[in-house]
Amino acid sequence: MIGNLIEEIGEAKLIGITGHVRPDGDCVGSVLGMYAYLSNVFENAQIKVFLEKPADFYGFLKGYDQIDSTFAYPGQFDVFISLDAGDIGRIEKADKLFLGAKKSICIDHHVSNKGFGDVYHIEPDASSTCEILVRLFEDEYMDVDVAKALYTGIAHDTGVFRYSCAGPDTFIALSKLVRYDFDGSRITDETFYQKTYVQNQILGRSLLESILFMDGKCIASSIDRRAMDFYGVNSKDLEGIVNQLQVTKGVEVAIFMHETGTLEYKVSLRSNGKVNVADIASYFGGGGHVRAAGCTMNGTFYDVLNNLSLHIEKQLNEM
Ligand code: 5GP
Ligand code: MN
Repeated sequence: MIGNLIEEIGEAKLIGITGHVRPDGDCVGSVLGMYAYLSNVFENAQIKVFLEKPADFYGFLKGYDQIDSTFAYPGQFDVFISLDAGDIGRIEKADKLFLGAKKSICIDHHVSNKGFGDVYHIEPDASSTCEILVRLFEDEYMDVDVAKALYTGIAHDTGVFRYSCAGPDTFIALSKLVRYDFDGSRITDETFYQKTYVQNQILGRSLLESILFMDGKCIASSIDRRAMDFYGVNSKDLEGIVNQLQVTKGVEVAIFMHETGTLEYKVSLRSNGKVNVADIASYFGGGGHVRAAGCTMNGTFYDVLNNLSLHIEKQLNEM
């Protein structure tokens, strides 16, 4: 665990920061929040951000235009920080920079994270990586840019402060952020709620084609390559569909998957509390949180569904 982040980084002159593939709000917020914060603390250090290009609507965050999505850097980093990634496989193209650094630091909140890097700080009970950063960051180096980024991340990973992962410590962290002068509801409107027309169309189609099984305790839907091409969407556009499936009355587990290759699906799992989906995703090589997890699986839609169902049913029967 990290007691003092500034001391941990020490005299570093070249600092790298990364997050997980297909970056979500907590990932983008923690990476750019860390960038803004370290820029305030270490004015003389060079700070580089490596991340897959996040959606344009994150463009209001400081450092967005500094993001390097080539993951190419010739030198060795003094310190390299991984944020919001549950295992080293999740930082994919940045793993060489991370492993090659003089010191590597991992900060994360996934229950499935076993710890990687020279120093790691994992709080499985934290709502988000951004919440952890609020506690690790010192007040004197905070500013409105840091606050906006961390607020964005907490908002996204808590479904705008609704999910059970938002506990007393989350709201204490938020109380520190909302003192800064920014429009929080604008951030959640523009980065969380707002959908493009095609995103709504594909959401509608996913709901329409969903199947309810296990006596209504499970709901599943999938989008194949053909449909994605037809609507002109990529995997980023599918965020949020699984959450809409999850709020179906009576449902314990929601499954949404989209085709990423031949007989290959990216699977998103959500639980309303009875089933631990982190265990199921971890079993299939992925990971995540008790109520929100993901993995990549091979086979047809029905193969994947059958394999997942066995695990879900087993957990429901054991209760
Ligand atoms: P989502 O379903 O929104 O993609 O992901 C839900 C949660 O599970 C997120 O916290 C995400 O980081 C984690 N997650 C999703 N896919 C994977 C995966 O393939 N491996 C691991 N370790 N975590 C994943
Ligand atoms: Mn997160």
